[in-house]
Amino acid sequence: MRKFLHQGDGYQHILMIFLDGLGLGETDPKHNPLALYPDIWPQAGVGPTHPHLACLPLDACLGVAGLPQSATGQTALLAGINAPALLGRHMQGFPSRRLVEMLQEHSIFVRMKTCGKTATFANAYRHPEDESTQARLSVTSHALKASGQPFRSLDQLWRKEALTHDFTNQKLLEKGYDVPLFTPEEAAHILIKLASQYDFTLYEHFLTDLIAHRGTPTEITDHVLLVTRFIRSCVEEALRAELFLIITSDHGNIEASQVKTHTRNPVPLIWLDKKDLTRLPPPADIAGVTPWILKLLDCESV
Ligand SMILES: [Zn+2]
Repeated sequence: MRKFLHQGDGYQHILMIFLDGLGLGETDPKHNPLALYPDIWPQAGVGPTHPHLACLPLDACLGVAGLPQSATGQTALLAGINAPALLGRHMQGFPSRRLVEMLQEHSIFVRMKTCGKTATFANAYRHPEDESTQARLSVTSHALKASGQPFRSLDQLWRKEALTHDFTNQKLLEKGYDVPLFTPEEAAHILIKLASQYDFTLYEHFLTDLIAHRGTPTEITDHVLLVTRFIRSCVEEALRAELFLIITSDHGNIEASQVKTHTRNPVPLIWLDKKDLTRLPPPADIAGVTPWILKLLDCESV
């Protein structure tokens, strides 16, 4: 029997896949490459057609003018705080000291630890702090570091206990890195197996944003197909593993192929599966995602 998502039932395993720069766009594939795969990707006003996927729009602008950006958006997502409103602006790139302080206090990994839950970051990489103590870290790195946990290593990648941000590693191989090549389906299998061992798992993929900024139309559609294959397999494997899968983003970008910048579109909150959530309503904006996940895991008091 699949577990219900009612508060108090203590859902056991939650996997959150964070796809950078993926919003809700038009239903016309000429303008929105995600619309080629409506089974997985919702568009404005239209949910995924996959029978086990539900979706709601999340506001990513958080009441602040201008285009939403990664540093503030990801802090909002992973600390449950309206970071752009507190800073008075959307901030791109690496987090400022103020954002790092928010993550140190409120990061989802810190709050899981306080609550006695196991939580992990599935991404492996050669950590920048291994090379320089002055290295600047991303929001996700700070979110994990604040909990005192180590980062996953490239050894763990070879042992299939982690993925890189480039889940197939194809782009890293092209750059000359010594990493294994996975199919999107193999990568999904590795991720679901890992997530089945923790109360909460985060996986970050940011090529969606990078390729939307810099890629050609062909590169963008090729990448959307790759991500779709990966997510489709994650959905099928998560169903079998009775794992609660959440897919969301920090701001729009790849859903609007006419522009190379971020968008002010809402981002999707996609989840598996269509259970009655009336007793635990989903969030309305990206800052509500972490509190929602904490409630799903019965950590609402932290
Ligand atoms: Zn971007």
